[in-house]
Amino acid sequence: MNTFRKLILVTAALLAAVTLSAKPRVRIIATGGTIAGVSATSASSAYTAGQVGIQTLIDAVPQMLYLADVSGEQLVNIGSQDMNDEVWLQLAKRINVLLNEEGYDAVVVTHGTDTMEETAYFLNLTVKSEKPVILVGSMRPSTAISADGPANLYNAVAAAASPECVGLGVLCCMNNQLLDAKSVIKTHTIDCDTFEGGKVGCIGYVYNGEAHILQRVTNKHTVNSEFDITRLDRLPRVGIVYGYANCSPLPMQAFVDAHFDGIVLAGVGDGNFYKDVFDVAVAAQQRGIQIVRSSRCPTGPTCLNSEVDDARYHFVAALDLNPQKARILLMLALTKTHDWQEIQQYFMEY
Ligand code: GLU
Repeated sequence: MNTFRKLILVTAALLAAVTLSAKPRVRIIATGGTIAGVSATSASSAYTAGQVGIQTLIDAVPQMLYLADVSGEQLVNIGSQDMNDEVWLQLAKRINVLLNEEGYDAVVVTHGTDTMEETAYFLNLTVKSEKPVILVGSMRPSTAISADGPANLYNAVAAAASPECVGLGVLCCMNNQLLDAKSVIKTHTIDCDTFEGGKVGCIGYVYNGEAHILQRVTNKHTVNSEFDITRLDRLPRVGIVYGYANCSPLPMQAFVDAHFDGIVLAGVGDGNFYKDVFDVAVAAQQRGIQIVRSSRCPTGPTCLNSEVDDARYHFVAALDLNPQKARILLMLALTKTHDWQEIQQYFMEY
């Protein structure tokens, strides 16, 4: 074998070895939250969210570099109570570029826990890729005793790097659990074990750097979603009205007077209105402001045409979506149609 031929063979073998050992390229987009929070002392419960930058978060968990080729970028650095439509649109567009144009294999988003479930659901409907997109946060700031952020971030990168998490839609990875974007809810104000999937439960676990999936979601998401935010720079305005005994109609009336595009009721029980609120809702729907009935109950569906005659009033029933996620689907639905029956169909599919 001549020297030139040997050189070619050696180069090919080296290239093959590099390709085989190539780790998945995972991009972390940091948005703030407690995972980037700093407290006055390690024992203090008083802290400020969104203080630490992306590189500090990555440097704190060198173990994840064995799992993936990890790099990061900072989108915003906020407490997620300040999350808004503008950041959501930027985030969804950026993830689509990273996954579809820049060749990344997965994205991890660090995020505050307060509105993590909303961002997860928004991305579930607007990301156009089957590749893993994993949201992660923490309940204790980065400076706390037993901070949960580093382990959560390690698990999130493990999930992102895993072929098991392809095609599942957007997931949240918290406290060793994987939760799907539609079901996930924050259930406790301060505990580390706060995220649950309601009656669906968690869809998997991450242990020892490996993701294990227990069940698959059936609702439409990501590549099967018909919502396209590529050319949008704002979303329709949708507000939420909370229901309670002797409920004032003023908040709903205020949304009507401000010409909101839609209103979600966080109703009592199976999405029921207080009678004074019902009258405002009927008038709003007649003016073209779409009313969606959801429930303040933490679990269970809001059923169509059950206690409320939706077909008569052209209301939409949120079915399995809680009010904050119903708001997101209604905003996206209103970018496509104002027909109440088509919007109800979206609620059946997504
Ligand atoms: N309220 C802050 C946020 O959601 C801190 C809560 C948290 O991240 O756990 O960003």
